[in-house]
Amino acid sequence: MKIFETKQALQDFIDDHRLKNALIGFVPTMGALHEGHISLIEKSKQHGVVTVCSIFVNPTQFNDPKDFEKYPKTIQEDLQKLESAGCEAVFLPSVKEMYPEGMHQLPHYPLGRLEDLWEGAHRPGHFQGVCVIVHRLLEAVRPDQLFMGSKDFQQVAVIRHLIRHYPFEPKIQLISCDTIREKSGLAMSSRNVRLSPEQKTQALAIYHGFDMIRKALQEQTNSSAEALKQQFAQQLLDAGFESVDYIALADPTSLEPITNLSQTFVVLVAAFIGGVRLIDNQLFSHELFKRV
Ligand code: AMP
Repeated sequence: MKIFETKQALQDFIDDHRLKNALIGFVPTMGALHEGHISLIEKSKQHGVVTVCSIFVNPTQFNDPKDFEKYPKTIQEDLQKLESAGCEAVFLPSVKEMYPEGMHQLPHYPLGRLEDLWEGAHRPGHFQGVCVIVHRLLEAVRPDQLFMGSKDFQQVAVIRHLIRHYPFEPKIQLISCDTIREKSGLAMSSRNVRLSPEQKTQALAIYHGFDMIRKALQEQTNSSAEALKQQFAQQLLDAGFESVDYIALADPTSLEPITNLSQTFVVLVAAFIGGVRLIDNQLFSHELFKRV
């Protein structure tokens, strides 16, 4: 596995592979890698592409400076995991390499409603930071395929928007991959290491909230979207969450809130436990329930 710290060195490696007609798969991460990240590397390998992973904790996407400072860093373990997964190249740029002109006066990305809704509303500037760094990483790697986790559901929508609006060459295929969970049902996240075992158990209330909605749909209780949201939020608070940023029942494409539960929708959740902000989501297809 090759390790590169500069865009130029990475590009030389990629150019070599392109000369051999290889396709490039890219997995951007912020490190502190877990099985969720590794599943993206594995997915890329299944597609038979040369797999490049980046590890860069991007300062401009943290709206809370404390969250940035506390972000876990486990670079040696990360490199071992990537090597075992068969990753061909890792890009480990410095802040200076990605922001040579500093972090002020960055470009603005028009994201429309995606920036007003849910994560956009609760983390001002977050998606602008995500777009700046992903745009720069995509320009450096120029992948054919980009692998991202649907755990960050709205982020996938934002990057899909970015790819549509900026003509990348070659054209990028965005592949959204399933969320990997602990056996308990807790979605894997780099931030989980900051939770005590007790908080991890309490955090399962998110997973149980999805079950509650699934049951309500299966049993056709005729609960409204609003009632389901309120019950979900109450269950989180009762379980020990300090606060709930949002619970949304939303259209999976536009992410606009829905009221009609007979359409396919996604439930998006963000809530704090032990000072750690967790996000998760689950897709509900009404057709699925009709067939059950
Ligand atoms: P991060 O390091 O948190 O920026 O995540 C890097 C990539 O890994 C993103 O595309 C995430 O959506 C994805 N990811 C994070 N957690 C999971 C998970 N539990 N399952 C699948 N993908 C994940």
